[in-house]
Amino acid sequence: MGKVLVIGCGGVAQVAIQKCAQNDAVFNEICIASRTVSKCDDLKKKIETQGKSRSKITTAKVNADSVDELIALIKSVKPDVVLNLALPYQDLTIMDACLACGVHYVDSANYEPEDTEDPEWRKIYEKRCKEQGFTAYFDYSWQWAYQKRFQDAGIMGILGTGFDPGVTSVFTAYALKHYFDQIDTIDILDCNGGDHGYPFATNFNPEINLREVSANGSYWENGHWVETKPMEIKREYNFEQVGMKDMYLLHHEEIESLAKNIPGVKRIRFFMTFGQSYLTHMKCLENVGMLRTDPVMFEGKEIVPIQFLKALLPDPASLGPRTVGKTNIGCIYTGTKDGKKRSIKIYNVCDHQECYKELGSQAISYTTGVPAMIGTAMVMTGTWKGAGVFNVEEFDPDPYMEGLNKWGLPWVVDENPVLVD
Ligand code: NDP
Repeated sequence: MGKVLVIGCGGVAQVAIQKCAQNDAVFNEICIASRTVSKCDDLKKKIETQGKSRSKITTAKVNADSVDELIALIKSVKPDVVLNLALPYQDLTIMDACLACGVHYVDSANYEPEDTEDPEWRKIYEKRCKEQGFTAYFDYSWQWAYQKRFQDAGIMGILGTGFDPGVTSVFTAYALKHYFDQIDTIDILDCNGGDHGYPFATNFNPEINLREVSANGSYWENGHWVETKPMEIKREYNFEQVGMKDMYLLHHEEIESLAKNIPGVKRIRFFMTFGQSYLTHMKCLENVGMLRTDPVMFEGKEIVPIQFLKALLPDPASLGPRTVGKTNIGCIYTGTKDGKKRSIKIYNVCDHQECYKELGSQAISYTTGVPAMIGTAMVMTGTWKGAGVFNVEEFDPDPYMEGLNKWGLPWVVDENPVLVD
């Protein structure tokens, strides 16, 4: 059917690309590009050696911080869709290049600047904090601002097709379509019951992960944000196939888009499970300054502490062989249907070792990479159509939900869930 250009070849991209290669009727050609082309070549070789895919695979070198390099690459590859699985720092440069070339854009995480001390960005950020009431470094305003330009260019931008955001957002559209006339509350519960055996490691890019979990929490209630201190709100929940876990309220990007796109929703919260050891390590690293994102001078050279830490921590992509256990990620909805109160939970359980057996990856990369492929397939096949910038809950959820069942992330609807107080 068409050609996809994937930017990035990290943990998530490795899964998404292998899934694109499985779905070779849709993805006839795949170009993999990042700064380290050897990694892209290794993945190409792995897929070709298995000999199961008819997709033609090519690789290229690109620095996605440069719009000019991206434009040159897109012009030479001529993809139908660009799938951005680099870092959130590159969202805007890749969107600019897609606009310049008239090519559809898909990603899995919203924009965040690499340098949060940049005075120009800081001015806009501080204004937003005051106006909106949440202080996370990432937010949708930067990418939603492309709406008119994408419309005028007649191209689509699909924002946030990982698991959360992504699948959780599609679950919400599905709940609204099939189970509710009105959704009142949404609790998104992200549980990783996996154990990799290291005292401390992150399951996806350490810099992005640690920035997210060390920040203030927040939730949406009655039309505005309520901000909390990091890890201030803790609950326990008994997760199907995982068991009882502590979970903490975090700010998360899909709260922002769901608050905009789900009419009349009164409260949206996001909880993620953490073990005590993870939290103690993180607090210690934060206290000694290792989570700082601004450069410091060390022996006459500038280093960014969190980037140095990333170099010391295990590569998330290397956790696959050693991680055992399951993830359970889903959403609990309360609301009304035909005048009666109802509550449901929609969730997926994913086994780290099963993912490793299939693709050589752990479940966090798997649960993000599979929906990245499905979202891209929705655009490539024209199943989801439109011009402009969209979040995934704005489309018909049914074909995406079928895709989840087909491509390795089957989901369950529990019509009598335990609620979170
Ligand atoms: P990794 O750090 O493993 O991989 C990032 C990739 O991006 C690397 O291949 C890197 O390659 C490439 N990259 C980084 N900078 C550039 C650049 N300037 N130019 C070109 N390529 C670049 O990250 P993950 O795979 O863990 O995460 C990928 C994305 O998925 C992130 O945006 C993350 O936030 C998102 N994510 C979303 C989730 C969701 O559920 N929605 C969950 C987990 C992650 P190289 O250095 O060779 O250039």
